[in-house]
Amino acid sequence: MAKLYFSYAAMNAGKSTILLQAAHNYQERGMNALLYTSALYAEGGVGKISSRIGLDVEANLYRQEDNLLEQIVAANKQEKVDCIFVDEAQFLTSKQVWQLARVSDHMNIPVMCYGLRTDFQGKLFEGSAELLAIADILREIRTICECGRKATMVVRFDEHGQPMREGDQVSIGKEIYVSMCRKHWEEKMRDPAVITAFRLESNPATPLTLDEDDDDSLAQLG
Ligand SMILES: [Zn+2]
Repeated sequence: MAKLYFSYAAMNAGKSTILLQAAHNYQERGMNALLYTSALYAEGGVGKISSRIGLDVEANLYRQEDNLLEQIVAANKQEKVDCIFVDEAQFLTSKQVWQLARVSDHMNIPVMCYGLRTDFQGKLFEGSAELLAIADILREIRTICECGRKATMVVRFDEHGQPMREGDQVSIGKEIYVSMCRKHWEEKMRDPAVITAFRLESNPATPLTLDEDDDDSLAQLG
């Protein structure tokens, strides 16, 4: 039975690089991998998955109103599809996540989704929430905060370098996103007075090390 996978991370964790590497592994074995990415950020309506290490691969665009199940059934009639990769999966609707679940359950095609878990306000995206709820396999892709701890949150800075506390979940402006651990995310996002109150009660600082559970997430990647 094919499975529905969700690999999630904060920003700049190399999700697209991992996706393209995995898709390449399929294609190298002569298999037909169907690639999707969100139309939200597509320049000139062209679908492309780009990684920071310079790889660029063409991909189909999905829009929120698209029926992915119908599209995949049609593509599979033209040429047998062996697996599906979806980048920017946080932008899927709940409905589309279920369409992809049916692709895995009824067509027996594995579906690999890659995306952000939460937005800059620490809230789940619709697609990520549904995937966390129903995917068969969840994988965390690690990235590191400036303090060395695992970064699980994203801060959105405006063009003047100020952390943004309000705004749309989807932005195509000039903001910069930085991945941080929860503690440092909260320091950027909350009223400084609240944070100072926490500090007064805290124990003396201990040296920062990677948490023990990080070894597990590393092993999962292998
Ligand atoms: Zn930190």
